[in-house]
Amino acid sequence: MKVDDIMDVALRRGFIFPASEIYGGVSGFWEYGHLGTKLRQNWENAWRRHFLGLDPNYHEITTTNIMPKGVFEGSGHLENFNDPLTSCTKCNQRFRADDLVQEATGRSVEDLTPLELSEAIRAEGITCPKCKGELGEVNLFNMMFQVNIGAAGGLTGYLRPETAQGSFVSFKRMFEVLRNKLPMGLAIVGRVYRNEISPRQGFFRLREFNQAELQIFFDPDAFEEHPDFETVRDTVLRVKQFGSDDIVSLTCGELVESRGIGKFYVYHMARVQEFYLTTLRIPPELFRFRELGGKEKAFYNKVHWDVEVYMETLGGFKEVGGIHYRTDHDLGGHEKASKQRLQVNIDGKKFVPHVLELSFGVDRNFWALMDVFYEQEGERTVFHFPPALAPVTVAVFPLLNKPELIAAAEALYTRLSPHFSADYDRGGSIGRRYRRHDEVGTPYCLTVDFDTVEKGTVTLRDRDSMAQEAVALDTVAATLIARLCP
Ligand code: ATP
Repeated sequence: MKVDDIMDVALRRGFIFPASEIYGGVSGFWEYGHLGTKLRQNWENAWRRHFLGLDPNYHEITTTNIMPKGVFEGSGHLENFNDPLTSCTKCNQRFRADDLVQEATGRSVEDLTPLELSEAIRAEGITCPKCKGELGEVNLFNMMFQVNIGAAGGLTGYLRPETAQGSFVSFKRMFEVLRNKLPMGLAIVGRVYRNEISPRQGFFRLREFNQAELQIFFDPDAFEEHPDFETVRDTVLRVKQFGSDDIVSLTCGELVESRGIGKFYVYHMARVQEFYLTTLRIPPELFRFRELGGKEKAFYNKVHWDVEVYMETLGGFKEVGGIHYRTDHDLGGHEKASKQRLQVNIDGKKFVPHVLELSFGVDRNFWALMDVFYEQEGERTVFHFPPALAPVTVAVFPLLNKPELIAAAEALYTRLSPHFSADYDRGGSIGRRYRRHDEVGTPYCLTVDFDTVEKGTVTLRDRDSMAQEAVALDTVAATLIARLCP
């Protein structure tokens, strides 16, 4: 099974492993090894470059992971951030009721109430997956982790379940700091925590994970326009519209005209797709937007498309992100709960800005890279990561254990390592060293041989084509840069 093969490399080579492993681990918590950390950071940095580059007024901020209770009263999480829970009356094991019903019926049940889920469990004869015992009534379970702040514990806080609230509660100050201009984007890349009921899908549903979210605050009267829309008008998007099973190709212009979705929204869809197809190099047939509608969509989201990548290891298209037009729900809620005015005044026009949220789960995107780029080619295991994202960009090898080759290879490594993610490897045959680096997706290997000492050239080997070519020592860095930034 592909998932076992990937997990084998992931565990053996230091991508990911279960958290607190020596104590048996807890499901939904994972750790990143040295290569996984690099790959995740590279994804995050690519995300920053792409999305913060969309507008000079989009910026990254850093906010706290623990926030006081008031924030989540204002955001509505205390009341609404719930999943349906059912427990086995025999063994007490707890399960997400919607997952069980969905598995049994094969249809999406995100819109069912707890009562309807209880009825479905009875109607379908669903029993405890562990011991076949009878399942109890479905209740709502709040997924936030509560913490006590301070020695006296008088103040209740919560670990943030999404990064977004940091941007909303910082809006007032940042709007002033950034001189009262809209649209204004506030991005946060960081840790979030959700007490998921049954995180069973390996690395997909986690209890502690990273999100990369950009909240774009804008004037609602400007939703129908975007100054750069013409640059994406003919861009073809791959979309699965609400109520249809087909993935169709529609241009941005067609989506605006046929569906009446604001250009501001569709422009950002195009740029999200560009990130996946161009920066991450996800093959187009493995990418789609899925429109959410009916009760599946949160009531405050006026327009909601999920970003999905087809992952063989997870058996289909899976959500890795979402584009949410959240109206003034967030600032309106915080204005009411904090009693602070979050209205803006732009040229005499007073209004509460609306929010377009571009939201991504970093870890799910990490897994998408592991899934999409994994290949078993005969004896060779390869991750065909985009070169700029690979955990190690370049590996340097001396051909033989000869002092002059070792000295030249060490000197080359020392020259490259401040500028590239570089590795130095002198163990085993060259063939074995290539295999070791293919297995972690290193796009370029440089072998130092006698030509290096005599003629000043090294052999550059390309991971994907396996082609080898001689490159002059003093042009190695420039050659790598040209390939990393084509
Ligand atoms: P799901 O329906 O899978 O529970 P969601 O719709 O609740 O996800 P959002 O609240 O929109 O997700 O969060 C934004 C992104 O964060 C998601 O698109 C996903 O990539 C990621 N994410 C959400 N929950 C988890 C989780 N438990 N583990 C890992 N990533 C997650």
